[in-house]
Amino acid sequence: MTESCEEVYSSLLRSFKGDLLRPGASGYEDARLVWNGMFDRRPGLIARCADVSDVQIAARVASQAGVLTAIRCGGHSLAGFSTCDSGLVIDLSKMRQVTVDPEAMRARFAGGCLLGSVDTATQKAGLVFPSGVVSHTGAAGLILGGGTGWLTRRFGLSCDNVEGFTLVAADSSIVRANAKENADLFWALRGGGGNFGVVTEFEVKLHPLTAVVLAEGLTPESNICALLGFWREFMAEAPLDLKWNINLRLAPHTENVPIEMRGRPVASSSLVWTGEPDVGRKYLEHALSMCRPDTVNSGTVSFLNLQTMADSDFPHGQRYYTKSGYFTRLDDSSIDRMLEAVVTIPSLETMVELAYLGGAAAQVVAKETAFGDRSAPFVMTLLANWKEASGDDAHISWVRGVFKKLQPAMKPGVYVNFMSDDEQDRVPEAYQERWDRMVEVKSHYDPNNFFRLNQNVQPKKP
Ligand SMILES: Cc1cc2nc3c(=O)[nH]c(=O)nc-3n(C[C@H](O)[C@H](O)[C@H](O)COP(=O)(O)OP(=O)(O)OC[C@H]3O[C@@H](n4cnc5c(N)ncnc54)[C@H](O)[C@@H]3O)c2cc1C
Repeated sequence: MTESCEEVYSSLLRSFKGDLLRPGASGYEDARLVWNGMFDRRPGLIARCADVSDVQIAARVASQAGVLTAIRCGGHSLAGFSTCDSGLVIDLSKMRQVTVDPEAMRARFAGGCLLGSVDTATQKAGLVFPSGVVSHTGAAGLILGGGTGWLTRRFGLSCDNVEGFTLVAADSSIVRANAKENADLFWALRGGGGNFGVVTEFEVKLHPLTAVVLAEGLTPESNICALLGFWREFMAEAPLDLKWNINLRLAPHTENVPIEMRGRPVASSSLVWTGEPDVGRKYLEHALSMCRPDTVNSGTVSFLNLQTMADSDFPHGQRYYTKSGYFTRLDDSSIDRMLEAVVTIPSLETMVELAYLGGAAAQVVAKETAFGDRSAPFVMTLLANWKEASGDDAHISWVRGVFKKLQPAMKPGVYVNFMSDDEQDRVPEAYQERWDRMVEVKSHYDPNNFFRLNQNVQPKKP
């Protein structure tokens, strides 16, 4: 432990109620791990907070001692921001309380909640909070960056459904942000990531929903081009109730995949219909007509099943690297570039993920929140996923190479939660015309950049 972490530890010992884990302590080795195995770091101290006053004291002591500090909710930062070497981790994993008010269709939840904690509690009242697609993701990191998922087209981004935040600021004071109090901070927290403080509570709107229709199917290599051409036109006219994501990948060697498709490039479609099942049938059938019939599955699933079905595809501790961007229009040559990329994919778990946003997310006026682009509906994410460090070069260079070829056709902009740790130069691009306002708010609430392990907005120099 460094000298300054030793100082933080000694100061916290007096009043900290949660766990203080130093290297060598029981539980430290597990507690230091984050989801992305690329970031095998050893913090000097992990302060696992029991409550808000623990967060306040940890932030105060660390900022006074000038100790590098990471904030951790679910530990799913693709860029590894929720850990560090030798510094402090403020770990919120003990703070997972959720309170639902079914009549008001509102919930409050603590800053350490996973998506699964929120879904389980809200579903007891037959309600949903629109969030992401893997239940072990942290809610705080996801919402603060924006938050996209199966319900984005129907109910908007996660951050669009937040009515209030409570946070511990860099000076350790408690600040509330909503439409009436600290409106600038409220604006910045909806898309601005962890730049402004530790959010200890979210107040959110909920919506009634307990089940959806889920349809899935595979399209073989020879038809992928036609499928993507069809998808781009179809989604432009599709109802808000329909979300259709397509992953371009090599088909897995599993029983449900026809033998001749295994290991070959395929487009894997997942469609979710959130409205009346009878109304959705014609849209789903039309979309699935582009899939090979013997690979098609469709049926009603509970919302909780939907939210956990991808959990095992993204295990903790594997190595991940990503790059992402927006297309206003997906032109034929970009589709060709993507198909060329799939042929050279370095592993079965690596993929080109395509999502079409629009819908309720696009109906929010761009300047209302800090969140990046809402106007370009096509989001492409290159997500490499592999096991051994010996595969780092092949996977990282595949992502970089494909991205470089596609970038000229993209619209400038990027979703901060789908960025890697080597993209700090793209942060202004993520906020574009909102950048100057972000810098103003950052300079006011965190003038010394205490919260800097994030897609960082640097404050103005004094
Ligand atoms: C398997 C997987 C699936 C995903 N699926 C989706 C998806 O469907 N939709 C989507 O939009 N994104 C998705 N993402 C991206 C996800 O939104 C980001 O990785 C997000 O940062 C994860 O949040 P976390 O709390 O787990 O992260 P952490 O690693 O804990 O933190 C990430 C960042 O948020 C900050 N932070 C965390 N908690 C707080 C807090 N309480 N107050 C202030 N700052 C805080 C940290 O400082 C850090 O900078 C996914 C990521 C993974 C790994």
